[in-house]
Amino acid sequence: MKAKTAIVGGGLMGTTIAWHLAQRTDGLREAVVVCEKGEIGSGASGRSSAVLSQIHADIKLAGMARDSLKFYAGFEGRSGRSIGFQPCGVVTLPGKLTPEERARFLEQEAAYEAIGIRLELLDAEGLRRRVPGIAVDSDAVAVFEPDAGFLDPERAMAAISALARDTGAVLRTGCEVDEVLIEGGRVVGLETAQGRVETNQVVVAAGPWARSFLSRHGVELPLRLLRTHQHHVARPKQCADGTAGSCPADPTDLSQTWIRGFGSQHVGREVLERDLAERFMDENEERPRHPVIVDREHGVLVRCEPARDRTRVHDIAKRHSEDVADPEVEASSTSHSFDAWARAALERRLPGYRGLATVGSDVSWENHAPDDLPIIGEVEGAEGLWVVTGFGPRGYEFAPSIGEGMAQLLSGRPVSAFDPQRFTPSRFQVRREDAPAGRRAGAR
Ligand SMILES: Cc1cc2nc3c(=O)[nH]c(=O)nc-3n(C[C@H](O)[C@H](O)[C@H](O)COP(=O)(O)OP(=O)(O)OC[C@H]3O[C@@H](n4cnc5c(N)ncnc54)[C@H](O)[C@@H]3O)c2cc1C
Repeated sequence: MKAKTAIVGGGLMGTTIAWHLAQRTDGLREAVVVCEKGEIGSGASGRSSAVLSQIHADIKLAGMARDSLKFYAGFEGRSGRSIGFQPCGVVTLPGKLTPEERARFLEQEAAYEAIGIRLELLDAEGLRRRVPGIAVDSDAVAVFEPDAGFLDPERAMAAISALARDTGAVLRTGCEVDEVLIEGGRVVGLETAQGRVETNQVVVAAGPWARSFLSRHGVELPLRLLRTHQHHVARPKQCADGTAGSCPADPTDLSQTWIRGFGSQHVGREVLERDLAERFMDENEERPRHPVIVDREHGVLVRCEPARDRTRVHDIAKRHSEDVADPEVEASSTSHSFDAWARAALERRLPGYRGLATVGSDVSWENHAPDDLPIIGEVEGAEGLWVVTGFGPRGYEFAPSIGEGMAQLLSGRPVSAFDPQRFTPSRFQVRREDAPAGRRAGAR
């Protein structure tokens, strides 16, 4: 098969790039092919918390996250496909702050508002109003993002891959890429489990596998691969006794209270997009019992998932994460010590969860570059070899911008969706001296 562009990996990044690129190319003459070794979304993307917050230390990244959130908010209305977008709001608790940090924290609202991100700074009383029953000290502060929320990663992957196919991209599953063929320092093709693909443009979007895959080709990315854990607790069913404070105050209106409360503050296009998003959701589907809680003090992210009838607790402090060389290693289950720690952190912040059953656990992998920025761009010394990886725990927040920007880059157009210099692989020394740059096509 001949392809204009071949993508290694059918996760969020590979399928999003394929979708954006296919919109700009003639699928018959310039095929875009995704080769996925397993099923679409079977890597980190299908196991993600997929929370969409816009709070970033770097205001430019916050702008990318803002663009992505707008994109997802209007997605279902535009495409007719559900991605399970839940605009339940995100509360970020920064933890203990020094007086100087607290003053800086309270000043940030203006910077975010200047780029169109709505924030509410909350004190302890405001927090208790937003999240009834939350346990916080009297001097607590937090940020509430009323427009933010999360996606259902499985639905999102199904929707994005269907749109990629609809626009002409070819998505091959069970198609492991064994080797990128490089001749005279230029990409000439791929060797896959389903035969050879002739192409001059290869994008490695292999997520946690990117480091080892590229290393086999003489490209050393300084990525840290972390095996991270998630603990799942039954969702609170009701708040009849008033102690399950993570629920809305009125237990007779659990499915609507939160969303109505948030939605009534919106005006203009955003209201329309939100209304549309809600209409496209199954009307019997319940809403989250509370906003997403990003609790930096206790090191957990808490996300209530009506679609799975559970609440997910994710170790954002990485206290229980381990460095691994390979994603396949010990992928089975989390440790008892993590489960006990996650449960304690959850109950300290949201005592309404006390006594609710543990309903499972999960592990997945995150890729981190030393500067915690993604690595996106063409590899020096291997023309036509592109890499898109290193998103840590925030790939969903950036994916629409990355898809758009990569399609611009690969078509040789000016890039408006992000600053390519910021993410370039050449900020690290990645090509080994002994890189097999002269490997002949067909040589194995
Ligand atoms: C526990 C957890 C929670 C997270 N929470 C959030 C969050 O709240 N918000 C947020 O924005 N982001 C979050 N993320 C991050 C986000 O999920 C990831 O950044 C994103 O899913 C990465 O997508 P990807 O396409 O790069 O990788 P992946 O989804 O891992 O896709 C890579 C694909 O490549 C395939 N592959 C690998 N090698 C080969 C090969 N040789 N041939 C063919 N195919 C190959 C794999 O099978 C895999 O499907 C979280 C991540 C984790 C792990």
